[in-house]
Amino acid sequence: MRIDIITVVPDILTSPFEVSILKRAIDKGLVEIHLHNLRDYVTDNYRHIDDYQFGGGAGMVMMIEPIDKCITHLKSEREYDEIIYMSPDGERLNQKMVNTLSLKENILILCGHYKGVDQRVRDHFITREISIGDYVLSGGELAAAVVCDAIIRLIPGVLGNETSALTDSFQDDLLAPPVYTRPAEYKGWKVPEILTSGNFPKIEDWREEQSYLRTKKLRPDLLKNE
Ligand code: SAH
Repeated sequence: MRIDIITVVPDILTSPFEVSILKRAIDKGLVEIHLHNLRDYVTDNYRHIDDYQFGGGAGMVMMIEPIDKCITHLKSEREYDEIIYMSPDGERLNQKMVNTLSLKENILILCGHYKGVDQRVRDHFITREISIGDYVLSGGELAAAVVCDAIIRLIPGVLGNETSALTDSFQDDLLAPPVYTRPAEYKGWKVPEILTSGNFPKIEDWREEQSYLRTKKLRPDLLKNE
């Protein structure tokens, strides 16, 4: 998989890909991340990427021309399965969406800033708009990093134990059960006995039950399709 990200602040997006699981995925050649600085596509000497909004009002708007140049250039090199704009009014990110995106070959993500991008960019270039939640960030970069992280960890071979992503929360509309590790007793606080019993079918049943109870308590909305 290849992910291209268009941004005016590429620095925000360097460290997430330089450590831990995402770095390993890149080193193993399972994913390529390419950052594109929008300012490289500006023609005026001041490297303007934004301007006042028509109709007046506070806040600058990202201009269409540099974005058009950048997207058109990238599209001339390869076909994109999705051209995503990160936006608080987009479709709310969830695990199903992430699962679908993890199967794509080439994804292009546009990060907005200021008041966002000229609406014509959204109308003519964007195939999907994604929000990471009902709050407003100052730029799309952190949101793009969230999307990339969620997608990349699902690519086969990225997580050490292949099955571990399948037992995480939201797969099957259930939250994950509680997990414990050594020591089996700490300050008198014990791990549930079943987990040290070695009875694996029973442990599986217990986990399923705990998943259900936790979901019922914390996120009953996920069980509405029962
Ligand atoms: N004026 C816009 C907000 C602009 S915030 C509005 O009210 O809807 C600046 C940029 O940050 C956006 O263009 C978008 O790329 C990014 N952004 C902000 N909040 C976000 C969120 N919740 N999810 C995804 N991207 C977000």
